Amino acid sequence: MSVDIEKIVLGPLETNCYVLRCDGQCWIVDPGIWPVPLMEHLEREKLTPERVLLTHGHGDHIDGLTEIKKTYPDAIVCCPKADEEMLSDPWKNLSAMVAMPIEVPPADELIEPGRTLGMGDCDWQVLDTSGHSPGGVSYYCRQEGVVFTGDALFCGSIGRHDIPGADEATLLGNIRRNLLSLPDETKVLPGHGPETTIGDEKRTNPFVMDDPKRIDRRRAEIDRNLNGP
Ligand SMILES: [Zn+2]
Repeated sequence: MSVDIEKIVLGPLETNCYVLRCDGQCWIVDPGIWPVPLMEHLEREKLTPERVLLTHGHGDHIDGLTEIKKTYPDAIVCCPKADEEMLSDPWKNLSAMVAMPIEVPPADELIEPGRTLGMGDCDWQVLDTSGHSPGGVSYYCRQEGVVFTGDALFCGSIGRHDIPGADEATLLGNIRRNLLSLPDETKVLPGHGPETTIGDEKRTNPFVMDDPKRIDRRRAEIDRNLNGP
């Protein structure tokens, strides 16, 4: 039984929310901010989410939880343990910094790397990709060859590490150890922007390369493309 994955882009920061369906179950990864299109989608498709997985606790990824819990009170919200306080603290989830304070209901389950969550035949492994936030995780399904990376790894970029609670060395170490070690063909579904693959990011993402010469070459290539031939 394979997983059907729908992407819904939500809010001013164009946060990617994903709706998963497998074996009669519906899960959500990151309910985003300004969740009306998500709620309309769930109603239209007659879906009742059983689990909501959070990749991390930033406001633009969690705001939709309030509506989800109001409409589907039995949905089990899984939050990375070290990001728990971000759900109730607008300063910690950074929404207060942009004068849009966000507070959402508490998590039902606190999760940590190493845990596996079963959905039908599929197992979702929780990987440590902290560093953009204190508890950031990715969710990886080996059977499907898919990983949800939140704001750790993007197509051609990585998550911000110049914000409160972030740490560049931690983020880079986790990306290299826990994401770039996945099979090259693994599909990467990030928290913003288009999808990519682990192999493409290893080859072309200048932020994750560890060889300075390769980084310089790749940056020059990008500059050439930006500036024309
Ligand atoms: Zn974030």
